[in-house]
Amino acid sequence: MQFVSMIDQETIQRIMDAARIEEVIGDFVSLKKRGANHIGCCPFHNEKTPSFYVSPSKGIFKCFGCGEAGDVVSFLKKHEHFTYPEALRWLAKKYNIEIQEEEQTQEQKERQNERDALFHLSEFAQQYFADLLYNDEMGRAVGLSYFHGRGLSDEIIKRFGLGYCLDEWTNFTDHARKNGYSDTILEKTGLTIFKDPESQTPNSELRRKAYDRFRGRVMFPIYSISGRVLGFSGRVLSSEKQAAKYVNSPDSDIYNKSRILYGLFQARSAISKADKCYLVEGNIDVISMHQSGVENTVASCGTSLTTEQIRLIKRYTPNVTVLYDGDSAGIKAALRAVNLLFAEGMHVRCVLFPDGEDPDSYAQKNGSTALQEYLATHEDNFLIFKTRVLLDGVKNDPIRKAELVKDTVATIALVPDLIERTEYIAQCAHLLDVPEEALASELSKAINQNRLKAYEEEKKTTTQEKPDNPVNPEFPATPNPEPRTSNPELPTDPSERHLIQLLLNYGNHTIDFPVTAEDGSQQYDTYSLAELVVNELQADELSFTDPLCQQVYQYYCDAIDRGEAPDASRFITIDDEALRSFAISLMLDTYRISDTWRQKQVFVPSLEDNLQSDLTETILTFKMKCVDGRIADNARSFREAKTEEDIDRLLAEKKQLVDLRRQIGLMLHRVIN
Ligand SMILES: [Zn+2]
Repeated sequence: MQFVSMIDQETIQRIMDAARIEEVIGDFVSLKKRGANHIGCCPFHNEKTPSFYVSPSKGIFKCFGCGEAGDVVSFLKKHEHFTYPEALRWLAKKYNIEIQEEEQTQEQKERQNERDALFHLSEFAQQYFADLLYNDEMGRAVGLSYFHGRGLSDEIIKRFGLGYCLDEWTNFTDHARKNGYSDTILEKTGLTIFKDPESQTPNSELRRKAYDRFRGRVMFPIYSISGRVLGFSGRVLSSEKQAAKYVNSPDSDIYNKSRILYGLFQARSAISKADKCYLVEGNIDVISMHQSGVENTVASCGTSLTTEQIRLIKRYTPNVTVLYDGDSAGIKAALRAVNLLFAEGMHVRCVLFPDGEDPDSYAQKNGSTALQEYLATHEDNFLIFKTRVLLDGVKNDPIRKAELVKDTVATIALVPDLIERTEYIAQCAHLLDVPEEALASELSKAINQNRLKAYEEEKKTTTQEKPDNPVNPEFPATPNPEPRTSNPELPTDPSERHLIQLLLNYGNHTIDFPVTAEDGSQQYDTYSLAELVVNELQADELSFTDPLCQQVYQYYCDAIDRGEAPDASRFITIDDEALRSFAISLMLDTYRISDTWRQKQVFVPSLEDNLQSDLTETILTFKMKCVDGRIADNARSFREAKTEEDIDRLLAEKKQLVDLRRQIGLMLHRVIN
């Protein structure tokens, strides 16, 4: 879909001006303010301590763990698999900026790639089903009255995009076909089921028979974190049929049920705010909790809880409270989830509803306030609760008790925090009536086993390294055709790194540079910092040994040669991943370093305060490093020199270099003191 041409440049600029990176990323990751930056746990790799930095003033993000970096659009592209225009449209919607888009032609619809088509059709279906719920006679009589009967208000019905699929064989399929959606896409989303004709009688149609998967069901659209429709869950209403109570969309290119939580789109900011997430069993429970004012609630729909789903929650909070029905099936389902939750380092609590009640029925019977009170007063430690429940089933059977002890220890071993573990051991020893030392020694065995397993898994994954990215053709080849440093975060020399940092962060800052005029008077000429650096380095024909530093420097040289003001922000969006990640880390690094110092309570004047002396010092240090390099080269040549002529020449050169070094040293001394 070529939307690029459909959004004009002016609108794009308005969108980019309005978009605040910390707000946008904050929709997907819980961020905390630290100094000038916001930090959180990276959504692109699994981590326990945050190394994901967002700089609001620069509009960039960077993960110091996995290297992922970019601006607000590249975040959305990477995280939500948006195309560029999709990201823009999403931002426009978020910031209420109107985009005038042309109506799509049939041809454009066919050209759009399949993934786009899946998204498009899902959205189309959601709107159709929601429309039927209010504007169709059967929709109102059957669908809407069902939702109203379950106590849902019109406001909450609209908030969750609920709908109804008519109880006819091909009503939806016909409507979608009429609007230009192909059978292939209808089948891939699972909205339509196709069956081969049963017998090949002369009268049988050649065309496969199609019918609506969700016919006669109320529809719960399933949203991505950013609010796109990915699939559906449909609940049957008539009790006569032998049909399954709930039917879900099959997995597709856009819908993977093990990576989606029902209600997360509507719940995410409440979870972040409350620093807690309630986990319930069904869609209706989620909606009912939201309607009762407990908006930090989600459900794993159609699957038992998966690790991917837990990690989704963990982006917003480490605190999970599992709510479950008082019946034994509910307890069993909840108990299955507990080990997974502990293994991800979550703090798990639970609330058990009275027998035969679930959050929905409880709220309906007793009202919102009573539900909130019940939740607040009935929270229990999940591990202790689990042990107590299982102990009930053990009675006096010594073999089953031994199994329970083992099972309990295995769960405690998953808790990452030592103090928490010790606490659990004490409580469980008491509950199980087993000496604490016995439990503790079982525990250390279990922990060692887990570590061994983790170590082996890590060994497996680290052997699969990522291939190098091709160098951006916009950049000339580096003079040293060395392979890139394996870790682009740590180039070889700190003065190289610092000089590039100054270029990227302050390249266009002007500095008044003292010059002596012809009549001997002191004057000041104004230069940009980038001009000063390039002039100084080019005069001595110096270059960088680190290939990434050299690439950035080369860009600044070229820009200044062309008489243009260099633009550091080009590195934020550059395709070359290694270069982008490197440049962005240097743009953020100034803040990161001072953060560390601030924690240690050392006063650091900001870089900007001393820009000129910092620049002079850095250039001198860089030159010193280059001279040292040449002295080392000289010594090497000296050892290999064959003729007297060579020796004389090398000695003279050495004297010059040592002199130069001394001069630079003196200047450096003057700057520092
Ligand atoms: Zn990362």
